[in-house]
Amino acid sequence: MFDNHVHTRHSPDCATEPSDAIAAARAAGLSGIVFTDHWDIGYESFNAGRFPPAEYARGELRNYRSAGGAFSVLIGIELGPTPAVRGEAERAMAGASFDYVMLSAHYAAAGGAGVTGGAGLPGAAGAGAPDSAAGGAEGAGAAGAAGAGPAGSAAGDMIYPQCEYGRLFEKYSKSEAYAAYLRTLISLVDAYDCFDALGHFDYISRYSPYADPIMRYRDFAGLFDALFGRLVSRGKALEINTATYRRLGGAPSFDADIVRRYAELGGELLCLGSDAHRARDVGGQFGEFRDALRACGVKALAHFEERKPIMTKL
Ligand SMILES: [Zn+2]
Ligand SMILES: [Zn+2]
Repeated sequence: MFDNHVHTRHSPDCATEPSDAIAAARAAGLSGIVFTDHWDIGYESFNAGRFPPAEYARGELRNYRSAGGAFSVLIGIELGPTPAVRGEAERAMAGASFDYVMLSAHYAAAGGAGVTGGAGLPGAAGAGAPDSAAGGAEGAGAAGAAGAGPAGSAAGDMIYPQCEYGRLFEKYSKSEAYAAYLRTLISLVDAYDCFDALGHFDYISRYSPYADPIMRYRDFAGLFDALFGRLVSRGKALEINTATYRRLGGAPSFDADIVRRYAELGGELLCLGSDAHRARDVGGQFGEFRDALRACGVKALAHFEERKPIMTKL
Protein backbone atom coordinates (compact mmCIF):
# COMPACT_ATOMS: atom_id res chain seq x y z
CA MET A 1 0.00 0.00 0.00
CA PHE A 2 0.99 3.59 -0.61
CA ASP A 3 0.53 6.35 1.91
CA ASN A 4 -0.64 9.11 -0.43
CA HIS A 5 -0.81 11.89 2.15
CA VAL A 6 2.26 12.70 4.25
CA HIS A 7 3.47 16.08 5.51
CA THR A 8 7.03 17.19 6.24
CA ARG A 9 8.68 20.24 7.74
CA HIS A 10 7.89 22.01 4.47
CA SER A 11 4.35 22.32 5.87
CA PRO A 12 3.80 25.13 8.36
CA ASP A 13 2.14 22.78 10.85
CA CYS A 14 4.64 19.95 10.71
CA ALA A 15 8.23 19.34 11.84
CA THR A 16 8.83 15.88 10.37
CA GLU A 17 12.10 15.21 8.59
CA PRO A 18 11.40 13.63 5.18
CA SER A 19 13.92 10.88 5.90
CA ASP A 20 12.08 10.00 9.13
CA ALA A 21 8.78 9.72 7.27
CA ILE A 22 10.39 7.44 4.70
CA ALA A 23 11.91 5.26 7.41
CA ALA A 24 8.53 5.00 9.13
CA ALA A 25 6.83 3.99 5.87
CA ARG A 26 9.42 1.29 5.26
CA ALA A 27 9.09 0.03 8.81
CA ALA A 28 5.32 -0.14 8.36
CA GLY A 29 5.80 -2.34 5.31
CA LEU A 30 4.33 0.13 2.83
CA SER A 31 5.19 0.07 -0.88
CA GLY A 32 5.57 3.80 -1.12
CA ILE A 33 5.01 7.25 0.27
CA VAL A 34 3.80 10.48 -1.31
CA PHE A 35 4.83 13.80 0.19
CA THR A 36 1.96 16.27 0.15
CA ASP A 37 2.87 19.48 1.90
CA HIS A 38 0.31 22.23 2.35
CA TRP A 39 -0.20 24.99 -0.16
CA ASP A 40 -3.35 26.84 0.94
CA ILE A 41 -4.03 30.04 -0.95
CA GLY A 42 -6.86 32.52 -1.37
CA TYR A 43 -7.64 33.03 2.30
CA GLU A 44 -5.83 33.44 5.58
CA SER A 45 -4.80 30.03 6.78
CA PHE A 46 -2.11 28.72 9.02
CA ASN A 47 -1.57 26.03 6.44
CA ALA A 48 -0.72 28.75 3.94
CA GLY A 49 1.91 27.72 1.44
CA ARG A 50 5.35 29.01 2.21
CA PHE A 51 7.02 27.88 -0.98
CA PRO A 52 6.66 28.36 -4.71
CA PRO A 53 5.27 24.99 -5.86
CA ALA A 54 7.71 24.63 -8.74
CA GLU A 55 10.67 25.08 -6.39
CA TYR A 56 9.17 22.73 -3.83
CA ALA A 57 8.68 20.07 -6.51
CA ARG A 58 12.26 20.20 -7.70
CA GLY A 59 13.85 21.00 -4.34
CA GLU A 60 15.09 18.91 -1.43
CA LEU A 61 12.40 16.22 -1.69
CA ARG A 62 13.47 15.44 -5.26
CA ASN A 63 16.62 13.89 -3.79
CA TYR A 64 14.48 11.19 -2.23
CA ARG A 65 12.28 10.52 -5.24
CA SER A 66 12.21 7.01 -6.67
CA ALA A 67 9.45 5.38 -8.64
CA GLY A 68 8.63 1.87 -9.67
CA GLY A 69 11.09 0.01 -7.45
CA ALA A 70 10.53 -2.01 -4.32
CA PHE A 71 9.80 1.20 -2.46
CA SER A 72 8.68 4.44 -4.10
CA VAL A 73 9.00 8.00 -2.89
CA LEU A 74 6.83 10.41 -4.83
CA ILE A 75 6.31 14.15 -4.68
CA GLY A 76 2.85 15.62 -4.45
CA ILE A 77 1.14 18.61 -2.93
CA GLU A 78 -1.98 19.31 -0.91
CA LEU A 79 -3.55 22.17 -2.81
CA GLY A 80 -6.03 24.09 -0.66
CA PRO A 81 -7.33 27.07 -2.62
CA THR A 82 -10.58 28.95 -2.81
CA PRO A 83 -12.39 29.03 -6.15
CA ALA A 84 -11.47 32.70 -6.56
CA VAL A 85 -7.75 32.05 -7.08
CA ARG A 86 -8.21 29.52 -9.85
CA GLY A 87 -5.85 31.23 -12.26
CA GLU A 88 -2.97 31.39 -9.83
CA ALA A 89 -3.43 27.82 -8.62
CA GLU A 90 -3.85 26.32 -12.10
CA ARG A 91 -0.73 28.12 -13.35
CA ALA A 92 1.28 27.02 -10.32
CA MET A 93 0.34 23.37 -10.77
CA ALA A 94 0.97 23.48 -14.52
CA GLY A 95 4.42 24.90 -13.89
CA ALA A 96 5.50 22.30 -11.34
CA SER A 97 6.42 18.66 -11.92
CA PHE A 98 4.39 16.82 -9.33
CA ASP A 99 3.50 13.16 -9.24
CA TYR A 100 0.24 13.94 -7.50
CA VAL A 101 -1.95 16.94 -6.79
CA MET A 102 -4.54 16.51 -4.06
CA LEU A 103 -7.24 19.14 -3.80
CA SER A 104 -8.59 19.82 -0.32
CA ALA A 105 -10.50 22.36 1.74
CA HIS A 106 -9.72 23.45 5.28
CA TYR A 107 -12.67 25.81 5.32
CA ALA A 108 -16.36 25.87 4.58
CA ALA A 109 -18.12 28.61 2.72
CA ALA A 110 -21.67 29.66 3.50
CA GLY A 111 -22.57 30.11 -0.15
CA GLY A 112 -23.05 27.37 -2.64
CA ALA A 113 -26.82 27.22 -2.56
CA GLY A 114 -26.71 27.25 -6.34
CA VAL A 115 -24.20 24.45 -6.48
CA THR A 116 -26.62 21.67 -5.84
CA GLY A 117 -29.92 23.44 -5.60
CA GLY A 118 -29.89 23.01 -1.86
CA ALA A 119 -30.67 25.79 0.53
CA GLY A 120 -27.91 27.99 1.87
CA LEU A 121 -27.17 28.17 5.52
CA PRO A 122 -29.68 29.95 7.71
CA GLY A 123 -28.42 33.35 8.71
CA ALA A 124 -25.23 32.79 6.78
CA ALA A 125 -24.91 36.26 5.35
CA GLY A 126 -22.27 38.11 7.23
CA ALA A 127 -21.27 35.04 9.15
CA GLY A 128 -17.67 35.43 8.06
CA ALA A 129 -15.02 37.75 9.38
CA PRO A 130 -14.38 36.00 12.67
CA ASP A 131 -11.62 37.32 14.80
CA SER A 132 -9.09 34.65 15.35
CA ALA A 133 -8.27 32.62 18.37
CA ALA A 134 -6.18 30.00 16.73
CA GLY A 135 -6.70 26.51 17.96
CA GLY A 136 -4.58 23.53 17.09
CA ALA A 137 -6.23 22.22 14.01
CA GLU A 138 -4.51 19.85 11.65
CA GLY A 139 -1.42 18.71 13.46
CA ALA A 140 -0.05 19.75 16.77
CA GLY A 141 1.95 22.86 17.34
CA ALA A 142 0.43 24.80 14.51
CA ALA A 143 1.46 28.39 14.39
CA GLY A 144 -1.34 30.72 15.36
CA ALA A 145 -2.97 32.52 12.51
CA ALA A 146 -2.87 36.22 13.17
CA GLY A 147 -6.17 37.84 12.49
CA ALA A 148 -7.44 35.08 10.28
CA GLY A 149 -10.51 35.93 8.34
CA PRO A 150 -11.80 35.69 4.84
CA ALA A 151 -9.64 37.25 2.19
CA GLY A 152 -12.17 39.61 0.75
CA SER A 153 -15.06 37.65 -0.61
CA ALA A 154 -12.78 35.07 -2.16
CA ALA A 155 -14.56 32.15 -0.55
CA GLY A 156 -17.97 33.66 -0.34
CA ASP A 157 -19.07 34.09 3.23
CA MET A 158 -16.51 31.96 4.89
CA ILE A 159 -18.01 30.38 7.94
CA TYR A 160 -15.22 28.02 8.80
CA PRO A 161 -11.65 29.07 8.42
CA GLN A 162 -9.86 26.10 9.88
CA CYS A 163 -9.05 27.68 13.22
CA GLU A 164 -12.67 28.62 13.82
CA TYR A 165 -14.36 25.29 13.76
CA GLY A 166 -15.56 25.67 17.33
CA ARG A 167 -17.56 28.70 16.37
CA LEU A 168 -18.99 26.94 13.34
CA PHE A 169 -20.36 24.13 15.44
CA GLU A 170 -21.79 26.56 17.97
CA LYS A 171 -23.70 28.38 15.31
CA TYR A 172 -24.87 25.62 12.99
CA SER A 173 -26.28 22.16 13.40
CA LYS A 174 -24.25 19.15 12.36
CA SER A 175 -26.35 18.77 9.26
CA GLU A 176 -25.99 22.42 8.25
CA ALA A 177 -22.25 22.51 8.87
CA TYR A 178 -21.47 19.23 7.11
CA ALA A 179 -23.66 20.20 4.14
CA ALA A 180 -21.84 23.53 3.87
CA TYR A 181 -18.51 21.70 3.81
CA LEU A 182 -19.69 19.28 1.09
CA ARG A 183 -21.00 22.20 -0.98
CA THR A 184 -17.63 23.86 -0.59
CA LEU A 185 -15.95 20.73 -1.97
CA ILE A 186 -18.33 20.67 -4.93
CA SER A 187 -17.62 24.29 -5.75
CA LEU A 188 -13.87 23.58 -5.61
CA VAL A 189 -14.18 20.54 -7.85
CA ASP A 190 -16.20 22.65 -10.29
CA ALA A 191 -13.60 25.41 -10.24
CA TYR A 192 -10.46 23.31 -10.69
CA ASP A 193 -9.06 20.81 -13.11
CA CYS A 194 -5.40 20.78 -12.01
CA PHE A 195 -5.83 17.99 -9.46
CA ASP A 196 -5.76 14.20 -9.36
CA ALA A 197 -7.72 13.44 -6.20
CA LEU A 198 -10.00 15.08 -3.69
CA GLY A 199 -8.53 14.86 -0.19
CA HIS A 200 -10.25 14.22 3.15
CA PHE A 201 -13.91 14.73 2.17
CA ASP A 202 -14.75 14.14 5.84
CA TYR A 203 -12.29 16.70 7.21
CA ILE A 204 -14.97 18.62 9.04
CA SER A 205 -15.93 15.63 11.16
CA ARG A 206 -12.38 15.52 12.53
CA TYR A 207 -13.14 18.51 14.74
CA SER A 208 -16.82 17.97 15.26
CA PRO A 209 -17.99 18.12 18.89
CA TYR A 210 -21.08 15.99 18.30
CA ALA A 211 -21.56 12.69 20.06
CA ASP A 212 -21.92 11.12 16.63
CA PRO A 213 -19.42 12.98 14.41
CA ILE A 214 -19.49 10.46 11.55
CA MET A 215 -20.46 11.78 8.13
CA ARG A 216 -23.03 9.43 6.63
CA TYR A 217 -24.15 8.95 3.06
CA ARG A 218 -27.83 8.75 3.93
CA ASP A 219 -27.79 12.21 5.54
CA PHE A 220 -26.22 13.92 2.52
CA ALA A 221 -27.13 11.61 -0.36
CA GLY A 222 -27.77 14.36 -2.90
CA LEU A 223 -24.54 16.17 -2.10
CA PHE A 224 -22.45 12.99 -2.19
CA ASP A 225 -24.01 11.98 -5.52
CA ALA A 226 -23.28 15.43 -6.95
CA LEU A 227 -19.70 15.30 -5.71
CA PHE A 228 -18.96 11.74 -6.82
CA GLY A 229 -20.66 12.25 -10.18
CA ARG A 230 -18.29 15.11 -10.90
CA LEU A 231 -15.19 13.20 -9.76
CA VAL A 232 -16.04 10.04 -11.69
CA SER A 233 -16.98 11.77 -14.95
CA ARG A 234 -13.68 13.63 -14.93
CA GLY A 235 -11.44 10.74 -13.87
CA LYS A 236 -10.55 12.23 -10.50
CA ALA A 237 -9.75 10.04 -7.51
CA LEU A 238 -11.24 10.09 -4.03
CA GLU A 239 -9.00 9.94 -0.98
CA ILE A 240 -9.89 7.84 2.03
CA ASN A 241 -8.12 9.61 4.86
CA THR A 242 -7.33 7.76 8.07
CA ALA A 243 -6.58 10.85 10.18
CA THR A 244 -10.18 11.55 11.08
CA TYR A 245 -10.50 8.22 12.82
CA ARG A 246 -7.09 8.45 14.37
CA ARG A 247 -8.21 11.72 15.93
CA LEU A 248 -11.67 10.57 16.94
CA GLY A 249 -10.37 7.30 18.25
CA GLY A 250 -11.85 3.91 17.67
CA ALA A 251 -12.09 1.74 14.64
CA PRO A 252 -12.20 2.98 11.03
CA SER A 253 -15.88 3.74 11.35
CA PHE A 254 -16.23 5.52 8.05
CA ASP A 255 -19.62 5.01 6.52
CA ALA A 256 -19.35 2.04 4.18
CA ASP A 257 -22.27 3.42 2.17
CA ILE A 258 -20.07 6.30 1.02
CA VAL A 259 -17.48 3.95 -0.47
CA ARG A 260 -20.16 1.68 -1.95
CA ARG A 261 -21.99 4.60 -3.55
CA TYR A 262 -18.77 5.95 -5.05
CA ALA A 263 -18.26 2.55 -6.68
CA GLU A 264 -21.89 2.33 -7.80
CA LEU A 265 -21.45 5.62 -9.63
CA GLY A 266 -18.45 4.16 -11.44
CA GLY A 267 -15.68 5.34 -9.15
CA GLU A 268 -12.57 3.15 -9.29
CA LEU A 269 -9.83 5.46 -8.09
CA LEU A 270 -9.46 5.37 -4.33
CA CYS A 271 -6.29 6.68 -2.69
CA LEU A 272 -5.46 5.89 0.91
CA GLY A 273 -3.73 8.57 2.98
CA SER A 274 -2.75 8.98 6.61
CA ASP A 275 -2.37 12.78 6.63
CA ALA A 276 0.56 12.14 8.94
CA HIS A 277 2.10 15.20 10.55
CA ARG A 278 4.35 13.01 12.69
CA ALA A 279 6.49 10.17 11.41
CA ARG A 280 4.81 7.68 13.72
CA ASP A 281 1.47 8.30 12.01
CA VAL A 282 2.71 7.34 8.53
CA GLY A 283 0.57 4.42 7.38
CA GLY A 284 -1.64 4.96 10.42
CA GLN A 285 -4.51 2.48 10.67
CA PHE A 286 -3.88 1.16 7.17
CA GLY A 287 -4.40 -2.43 8.25
CA GLU A 288 -7.83 -1.69 9.67
CA PHE A 289 -8.76 0.42 6.68
CA ARG A 290 -7.62 -2.27 4.26
CA ASP A 291 -9.97 -4.71 5.92
CA ALA A 292 -12.83 -2.21 6.01
CA LEU A 293 -12.36 -1.30 2.33
CA ARG A 294 -12.21 -4.95 1.31
CA ALA A 295 -15.49 -5.45 3.16
CA CYS A 296 -16.94 -2.71 0.91
CA GLY A 297 -15.86 -4.67 -2.16
CA VAL A 298 -12.81 -2.55 -2.99
CA LYS A 299 -10.31 -4.67 -4.92
CA ALA A 300 -7.52 -2.17 -5.66
CA LEU A 301 -6.14 1.18 -4.57
CA ALA A 302 -4.62 3.95 -6.66
CA HIS A 303 -1.54 6.11 -6.42
CA PHE A 304 -0.21 8.55 -8.99
CA GLU A 305 3.16 8.79 -10.68
CA GLU A 306 3.75 11.80 -12.92
CA ARG A 307 0.03 12.51 -12.61
CA LYS A 308 -1.01 9.09 -13.99
CA PRO A 309 -2.97 6.60 -11.86
CA ILE A 310 -1.45 3.24 -11.04
CA MET A 311 -3.59 0.55 -9.45
CA THR A 312 -2.34 -1.89 -6.85
CA LYS A 313 -4.29 -4.92 -5.70
CA LEU A 314 -5.65 -4.47 -2.20
ZN1 LIG B 1 -5.67 18.79 4.87
ZN1 LIG C 1 -2.88 17.06 4.94
